[in-house]
Amino acid sequence: MPEAKLKVLLLKHTPEPEQVVAMAAKLCYSSSDVEGLKDKIAAKDQKAFVEKLVSIGHMSPIEHVTFTFGIEGISRACSHQLVRHRVASYSQQSQRYVKETLFDYVIPDTIKTDKALTKSFEKYMRQAQKAYDEMIVGLNKMGVTGENAQQDARFLLPNAAETKIVVTMNARELLHFFRVRCCNRAQWEIRAMATEMLKLVKGAAPVIFKDAGPGCLNGKCPEGKMSCGKQKEVREKFKKL
Ligand SMILES: Cc1cc2nc3c(=O)[nH]c(=O)nc-3n(C[C@H](O)[C@H](O)[C@H](O)COP(=O)(O)OP(=O)(O)OC[C@H]3O[C@@H](n4cnc5c(N)ncnc54)[C@H](O)[C@@H]3O)c2cc1C
Repeated sequence: MPEAKLKVLLLKHTPEPEQVVAMAAKLCYSSSDVEGLKDKIAAKDQKAFVEKLVSIGHMSPIEHVTFTFGIEGISRACSHQLVRHRVASYSQQSQRYVKETLFDYVIPDTIKTDKALTKSFEKYMRQAQKAYDEMIVGLNKMGVTGENAQQDARFLLPNAAETKIVVTMNARELLHFFRVRCCNRAQWEIRAMATEMLKLVKGAAPVIFKDAGPGCLNGKCPEGKMSCGKQKEVREKFKKL
């Protein structure tokens, strides 16, 4: 039962995302017809338009571009937090159709720093696998097979069990997602995943995501009394990303 490693790929995104956003914005602010939009967008306009939109909070043109990620090596605890973001599309590997023959799992770093805790964690993972396997055998004997057995045996699997998911979000939702999930107040696993996603979209659409990251990057920490108090370090980290 191997330990899972986080992997985030940007599978696809809207081609020329910043041009698409600039075209949508151009339509709002000029008398152009739709046929003329593309010609009216010079490269210099794209940057200026996109920066202006984000700075004044006119966000609907940003929604026209989407980014699709392939993510693996995260726990079910992490994917459960991810799918709370409703303005997105998800396709997750099924524990109903895919048999967990030897499930991978995520061990939190706090636990990994202690040998005894790691041993105890790994022992529990093996026990969970054994209980799952025995449950499948038992259900099979009762005539419950395939996904019907798997859908019930999976109740024994832990939150640590690794999962794979394809996620599509538009750029507006991503900006929101990064604000809350790259923040130090977010749980470490989803924060690590969100930070990898941010690195990838910065490469694909540098103007849209220029100032993206936790809420404190561009103003006062929105967490108030719950603030981590590390605004300076956080700003430096995301500036270098
Ligand atoms: C640090 C942290 C701790 C958390 N702790 C908990 C917890 O203890 N328990 C818990 O249950 N959840 C918790 N959450 C999850 C949180 O409550 C949200 O469910 C999650 O972050 C999804 O974000 P969202 O609702 O802003 O936005 P999304 O679903 O990503 O939607 C984006 C935006 O669209 C708008 N929107 C979407 N749907 C609606 C709607 N139905 N009505 C009105 N506006 C809408 C809102 O403006 C929203 O911000 C936590 C999140 C964080 C970051």
